[in-house]
Amino acid sequence: MPLRGCDFPNCESPAERGSGDCMICSSHRCLEHLAPEFHACPSEDDDPDSFFTAYDAAKQGHLQALLNKVDFNALRSIATRLHDNVPCYIPAFLNATEQAIPDAESKQILEQTGGQNCNLDICFDDGVVWIARLRFEEPTVLPRDAQATISISEVETLIFLARTNIRVPEVFHHSSDESEIGTPYMLMEKLPGKPLQWPDASTQQRTKIMGQLVDVFLELEKHPFAATGSLPEVAWWDRSPRVIYMIKGGELATLATDNFLTHLWRLEHLPSLLAIVKDDHFYLKHADDKGDHILIDEEYNITGIIDWEFASTETKNLAFSSPCMMWPVQKYYDGNNDLSEEEYDLRKCSNAVDEKIWRR
Ligand SMILES: [Zn+2]
Ligand SMILES: [Zn+2]
Repeated sequence: MPLRGCDFPNCESPAERGSGDCMICSSHRCLEHLAPEFHACPSEDDDPDSFFTAYDAAKQGHLQALLNKVDFNALRSIATRLHDNVPCYIPAFLNATEQAIPDAESKQILEQTGGQNCNLDICFDDGVVWIARLRFEEPTVLPRDAQATISISEVETLIFLARTNIRVPEVFHHSSDESEIGTPYMLMEKLPGKPLQWPDASTQQRTKIMGQLVDVFLELEKHPFAATGSLPEVAWWDRSPRVIYMIKGGELATLATDNFLTHLWRLEHLPSLLAIVKDDHFYLKHADDKGDHILIDEEYNITGIIDWEFASTETKNLAFSSPCMMWPVQKYYDGNNDLSEEEYDLRKCSNAVDEKIWRR
């Protein structure tokens, strides 16, 4: 079953995942019904100025619509009840005391809004700060039921990590439906520190981060899983047949030929790849390790690792591969598959890990 069907009248094709989800008019279209004769929104390729103006306005509108749905009094009273009845406030309201809901354009909102979530600070009178994590409801994010599955997996992953020495936010409460505050949400600890900006770090600072990352790898290595997948239920499955099916049906049209050949190659070589695997365990891998998932203090000490949604258990080589912030992306796209200097440096730091650091 496709993730979404094309919503053009009487069309029974799957909506293409990617370009088929239109932020501007909130429609989901198959490739045929994305064509200008069926879809009037400006095109990113043909008219980027109009496209991005409309896109940004629509995105803003979706975020404001989400904030409009939230019962902030209920959110505050749930947080207070869970934190020993200590009163709390939401700084996103502070600039306008008469405000009924936060403004999607306010600094407080924009600074903590990521690709999938809006993160609101909840400040208690005793100085403790939590985050209320609200899932976007834009047309470009996954449907509600899929998001619920991902949220539950993120919570389970954080609960698992809390048993290790890796610092992650504690989850205090989560709800997958609208019954409590009007939208699904999660209440979690706000860790100290600021997101790491890898390109801004000096060589010395990067080396310091690498040493700490190796410690994280070593800790994760102590907690193997018997199968690959995402928590709470990891299980063996090979996604290539499913991806090939989606490409054939038009649900995946972005770089269709490249993806088709990649998954065909995987199917062909999987038995020989499995034959050389020495370790039949799997280890947790962060899904979006571009740098800002690591929180640091002024001295580049890691204060925590956040954003564990989509994390999965992977083979040792993949789980402990270099994070994408170190990849020489441009060279790779130009056909060069050599490791970057930083990846070699990370491998040097990883002497205690008995496998080579592989990039991909
Ligand atoms: Zn549209
Ligand atoms: Zn269609």
